[in-house]
Amino acid sequence: MVNGIGEQVRIDLPTVACSLEDGIVDAVAAEPVLTIARVPNPDPKRLLLLFSDTGGGHRAAARALVQTLNEWYPGEFEPVMFDPLGGPNSAWLLRRISGLYGFSIRFAPWVWGSIYYSSDSRLGVRFLRSTLLALANRPVAEAVAAGRPAAIVNLHPLTGSAAVKARERGCRETPVLTVVTDLVNPHSSWHDRKADRIVVPPTAVGWARRPKRLGPERRVEIGLPVSPPFAGGVLRGVQRAALRRSLGLDERRFTVLLTGGGEGAGGIARRAKAILRRFDDVAVVAICGRNRRLREALDELAAEYPDRLKVNGFVDNMAEWLRCADVLVSKAGPGTIAEATCCGVPLMLTSHVPGQERGNTEFVVDAGAGRHTPSVRSLLRTIDELHRDQSTVDAMALASARLGQPEAAREIAALLAGLLGITPPCPSVPEQGAPRDLAS
Ligand code: UDP
Repeated sequence: MVNGIGEQVRIDLPTVACSLEDGIVDAVAAEPVLTIARVPNPDPKRLLLLFSDTGGGHRAAARALVQTLNEWYPGEFEPVMFDPLGGPNSAWLLRRISGLYGFSIRFAPWVWGSIYYSSDSRLGVRFLRSTLLALANRPVAEAVAAGRPAAIVNLHPLTGSAAVKARERGCRETPVLTVVTDLVNPHSSWHDRKADRIVVPPTAVGWARRPKRLGPERRVEIGLPVSPPFAGGVLRGVQRAALRRSLGLDERRFTVLLTGGGEGAGGIARRAKAILRRFDDVAVVAICGRNRRLREALDELAAEYPDRLKVNGFVDNMAEWLRCADVLVSKAGPGTIAEATCCGVPLMLTSHVPGQERGNTEFVVDAGAGRHTPSVRSLLRTIDELHRDQSTVDAMALASARLGQPEAAREIAALLAGLLGITPPCPSVPEQGAPRDLAS
């Protein structure tokens, strides 16, 4: 039965389910099932998602949105992810500079901090946009001209103005939606008066003064988008034990997960070594992201502790690692915090990148979802305490889960669909529509 354009309603009549127990076949009448599925749209709307691999959070947010759109609006969209700062089609200078991001936050955070704060004003942003960021205009304009997207979704603070300019040049009707991926203190460059909607997390108190300039109708408060696997809820008991086994971990050991965002920042090696030396009944999982030197150092350490240290490079199954951890040790990355809270994991936050991660630690600690453990000594003390006190771990896990916003990606997807006149979603079988990188 067809119900409106592109929609189909299928009603499965009552069926008989059989179960075999002790040799007796038992017939049980099942409930009638009403499934609503969309017939694939022959003309999907193309979306251009702008992000950059400065850290891992922007790509993760883009992927979360793509996966959610594919799950809730199967066949309606054709998303294309594009990195105009560091991708192959980008300007050489921008590529070099964005390539230095990981190095600067790991080895010279003060350099990054001074660039961040000196540009965090209207004037600073105007200067950036008329100089360095103007180099992103051409690749974005080319991508828009080639793809004629129905909408542009901007997930990076430095690509919003290129999105708006490209729209003004060729496709005036194309809406631009910006999704802020910072938690508490977004940089001024996220702000663009010409964007049709700016999605800001409700936690972004640093933006409290901005609605006047933005217009309240264009500012929408929704949390950071996380991929569907993180939205699956907290794992405990036998399910967690099974997951730990499947990942090669001891199911009974207190497990500490160490991460440092996409760049593997935040002194992970030092902390892993200290935890392993101090406790002989604690397991450590280290996720190094793109940091190859860190991985090499930890691989050497793993030879000393083969049963208790698991080392990973850049992983695609972060939700699984979070779900099997008792606690997370990390820098205060917004993406990591959003994901860990969806999985209800207590957070030990060791540091923050100056600028965009300022205020994140206080946000987590004030909610009772974690602790600030800047030194190795404070981290060991906290692990020692939590390891022996399950009730405190449980209370922090509960507080962490309360902060989680697993619906955020779906709300953003609905906002985007609404901008394009697509009807509200109906549940469907998830489709494996992996996002396509424009340049690959
Ligand atoms: N991440 C990942 N695999 C890794 C390391 C990190 O998928 O091996 C993801 C992580 O799940 C999160 C993002 O990278 O979504 C890190 O974002 P965050 O904002 O915490 O820090 P950033 O790397 O952007 O500084």
